[in-house]
Amino acid sequence: MKIRFVGAKNIITKSNIPGIDYVINPYIGCQHGCVYCYAEFMKRFTNHKGDIWGNFLDIKQYPFEKIQPEKYNNKTILLSSVTDPYIPLELKYQNTKKILEHLLGTKAIISILTKSKYAMRDINLFKEFDNLEFGISIFSLNENFTRIIEPIASKPMERLDLIKEIHKHGIKTYVFISPFFPQLTDFKKIIEYSVEFTDFFMFENLNFRPYNIHRINNIIKKDYPYLMNIYKEFQNDDENWELIKEDIIHYCENKGIQYSIEFHHGGFSKKKKK
Ligand code: SF4
Repeated sequence: MKIRFVGAKNIITKSNIPGIDYVINPYIGCQHGCVYCYAEFMKRFTNHKGDIWGNFLDIKQYPFEKIQPEKYNNKTILLSSVTDPYIPLELKYQNTKKILEHLLGTKAIISILTKSKYAMRDINLFKEFDNLEFGISIFSLNENFTRIIEPIASKPMERLDLIKEIHKHGIKTYVFISPFFPQLTDFKKIIEYSVEFTDFFMFENLNFRPYNIHRINNIIKKDYPYLMNIYKEFQNDDENWELIKEDIIHYCENKGIQYSIEFHHGGFSKKKKK
């Protein structure tokens, strides 16, 4: 892992994600190195051309005491969008923790999203915020498959145990079923397992990008060759997602589950919130 310390002009930056006013990315790069990761484009803007995503991490240096919690009152802040706030190296460098400590007192809606069991460390800190919601992203309960796709992230059951525990502490929780792998993501199974301790569910499709498409295809070809034609169809025509969307809507409406579908194909589509 190539580690650098880099000065940051801002640590809480304006967001172009629909429904999110600000984002916090405590690090540049992400130790998790997920096969499909959409944040890999960051390499171009951060002097990491030629580096392998997942093999470098820039620790942002910022005078955290400059954070003004009241500046974000009534705004929504996502932590994080192009890294994971609880990568294993957070235990050492603690940027996420320091940022949250300096945000205490804000009336912002803070949404934390992770794939890491290490968020357990900060439960007491989360409880000090008026409006904090905590989410995990997960696409399968199959440990072998997730290990191939998300090699460093916590196991699916560890993530689910994490939000179960966080929910027990009275914190609002959500499960982000993402990225949705056609024929392989059993969203009903994930919901059935987690509905008791999850306040709402979100769904995002698998996006095929120039830098991830070959990696995804190689894995499907090797481990699920009978699905290769289906994956090619999804890559050629976004309309294939419509049936999956309908299935999600039908299931969630029938079960009275609060959900939103964030399917997009290169950009962001409009929110469909219940
Ligand atoms: S955890 Fe998120 S940001 Fe990190 S590599 Fe995986 S998908 Fe990318």
